[in-house]
Amino acid sequence: MMNFSRRNLIALAMIGSGLLASGLATAQTYPSKPITLVVPFAAGGPTDIVARTLAATMGKSLGQTVVVENKLGAGGTLAAGYVSKANPDGYTFLIHHNGMSTAPALYRKLAFNPMTDFEYVSQAVDVPMTLIARKDLPAKNMQELSAYVKANAKSINLANAGLGAVSHLCGMLFQQAMGVDLTTVPFSGTAPALNALLGGQVDLLCDQTTQTTQHIKAGTVKLYGVTTKQRIRALPDAPTLSEGGLKDFEVIVWHGIYAPKGTPAAVVDKFGSAVRAALKDPSFASRMAELGAEIVPDSKQTPEGLRTWLQSEINKWGPVIRSAGVYAD
Ligand code: ASP
Repeated sequence: MMNFSRRNLIALAMIGSGLLASGLATAQTYPSKPITLVVPFAAGGPTDIVARTLAATMGKSLGQTVVVENKLGAGGTLAAGYVSKANPDGYTFLIHHNGMSTAPALYRKLAFNPMTDFEYVSQAVDVPMTLIARKDLPAKNMQELSAYVKANAKSINLANAGLGAVSHLCGMLFQQAMGVDLTTVPFSGTAPALNALLGGQVDLLCDQTTQTTQHIKAGTVKLYGVTTKQRIRALPDAPTLSEGGLKDFEVIVWHGIYAPKGTPAAVVDKFGSAVRAALKDPSFASRMAELGAEIVPDSKQTPEGLRTWLQSEINKWGPVIRSAGVYAD
């Protein structure tokens, strides 16, 4: 019996060292081909802008191209489900925002579990949102908008990027704060939603500064406020929604980078190091600052920094969403 156990132990040790050796070999040769970074929303939108800027910067330290692939649908849950089932070989990653934490409460049938189906790489940047309208909407400021939406609730179209998008979350909080029920119009991302706003087909949109800053500065949309507690450097003249009367209104968009469960730790670590290098790259930092995005502190640039944050966000939003009774079957 004793001998049998010892033999087993030796066999296990041999398998273990073999796995370790192959893990090291993978890490040494990784990446040997382009890597795909999946974005859950339309090209040209806020998540896509962060992803493409990050991917281009990461290519410098990885020595391989990081290709952005937009997988659209179901408020970002389609892409997350796709990556959760992708080959865990280090060549498929996901970038997703707050939607990763709201999806479990919003979707009764979800093809993935955010807490068990992924390896966590890092958080990246935090981005404020802005409440904007088509240029010719009569309300000139938040006080006027408040009266306008109450008087015209039936005819106002509020665009978003689907159930689970931050534009949906922000729009939901806005409607709750106003005590109105507007007609929501879902798009595959806020790039097409903003196009519809510019074309006057929809009235209102809550969207990240990464996409809206240039339009606000050019005056092609009407701005009511930013969703942060304090004013932001990228748009110093923009009032906060709190200043406009929406007390304590705050939505900040955070981003996490995920790999399918089972991706080797050494590979996650190498990809994560490239993320961290990109976040410290001055050209990345200045582009993000221009767009109102803030690079997260070092403590969040880790697998554990993302995992614990995601769990706390699930705990925070689950009850809020459930009590609002918003969900998809
Ligand atoms: N801003 C979008 C959202 O509302 C996503 C996107 O198009 O990047 O979640």
